[in-house]
Amino acid sequence: MSTPTGKGRETQTTEEHESALETARKQLHHAAAHLELNPNIVERLRHPMSVHEVTLPVEMDDGTVEVFTGYRAQHDGVRGPFKGGLRFHPEVTRDECVGLGMWMTWKCAVMDIPFGGAKGGIAVNPKRLTRGEKERVTRRFTQEMRNVIGPMQDIPAPDMGTNPQTMAWIMDAYSMQEDETIMGVVTGKPPSIGGSMGREESPGRSVAIITRAACDHYDRLLSDTTVAVQGFGSVGANAARLLDEWGATVVAISDVNGAMYDPEGIDTHAVPSHDEEPEAVTDYADRTIPNHEVLELDVDVLVPAAVGNVITEANADDVSADLVVEGANGPVTTTGDAILEERGIPVVPDILANAGGVTVSYYEWLQDINRRSWSLDRVNEELESDMLDAWSAVREQFQRRDVSWRDAAYIVALGRVAEAHEVRGLWP
Ligand code: GLU
Repeated sequence: MSTPTGKGRETQTTEEHESALETARKQLHHAAAHLELNPNIVERLRHPMSVHEVTLPVEMDDGTVEVFTGYRAQHDGVRGPFKGGLRFHPEVTRDECVGLGMWMTWKCAVMDIPFGGAKGGIAVNPKRLTRGEKERVTRRFTQEMRNVIGPMQDIPAPDMGTNPQTMAWIMDAYSMQEDETIMGVVTGKPPSIGGSMGREESPGRSVAIITRAACDHYDRLLSDTTVAVQGFGSVGANAARLLDEWGATVVAISDVNGAMYDPEGIDTHAVPSHDEEPEAVTDYADRTIPNHEVLELDVDVLVPAAVGNVITEANADDVSADLVVEGANGPVTTTGDAILEERGIPVVPDILANAGGVTVSYYEWLQDINRRSWSLDRVNEELESDMLDAWSAVREQFQRRDVSWRDAAYIVALGRVAEAHEVRGLWP
């Protein structure tokens, strides 16, 4: 079984292992330099508002008890309840949750949705748990965090290693203790218990919408665009399939075992996503290449949609794409980003590109608290319109200030968060 805490990560500072918190703080510092912000507010935003750490004793199927560690980092709540995913991964640490929570603050602000940022996690390898063990870990985590989550306080959602079933268990465990069914405590639930239509596809859909907008910005027709997607989970598979449907040529897709490569274009619908059949991409391939080579393919658009820290100081010089659109959270390290910028390869950041997930989470929360459900068409229409509004706001800063796409997105987000802090003030 995995070690309960991944403490080693907190002390690793080499570039390849830059923690999400280090990356997030450097990005904040970089973007703040473009704005005349009150330095006290920037200092406040470098820190989470609170971090909750719990230990979770769980009875395993063989009768032994294992103790896991869980976290919920609430970064900033000035614009509304905390919002962000919950991940089950052996390398989850406190710092990782803080950094990812910070990104959620910017993601919600760049989309202009009334939520703050949070992220949680349990240091556990979900692949090694049975369904029953996973359920018990999830319910115990919910119980231990019961006082800090809630529909008006902090609303978890799926992230790496968790899915709609995990959210259903959280909703149930929370509701049983509160003596009423409280659907709005989590988003990303199955539609039968208040989940939104289109929520599962939404991060991938937003990556596709933003990729299309970025191609348009650079006067590139999708029908003349080749795309490589790293990761074929919920984000990567949905992004690849939509771009494929909209006329782009997807030449490579990958999972942990390797990549499928076809310069003529892959039928992305013919390959099962991770959720449909885990880690099966290479089983369907005539031609495979190693996973890292996906990042180096000479394509028009590269979408890293697997895990964080994949484009680093070590390989940023080998990236041959003309444009990178971040599907995962934090796939490019600070040095990787600087190298790509120097080489003139634009990077459209995660906080914009994959923000469709939290945006449809917001629609789900609205549906839950209003006891109404929206059609899939309505969800997709609103998502398209909200993504394009955010794209326009970011593009305006990109053009006006001549900064990177990441800085432009941060400027939009940070401006909104800082203004809210300014008018609310410090209490007491
Ligand atoms: N985990 C997703 C993200 O990183 C979604 C968060 C949410 O819907 O609250 O954006």
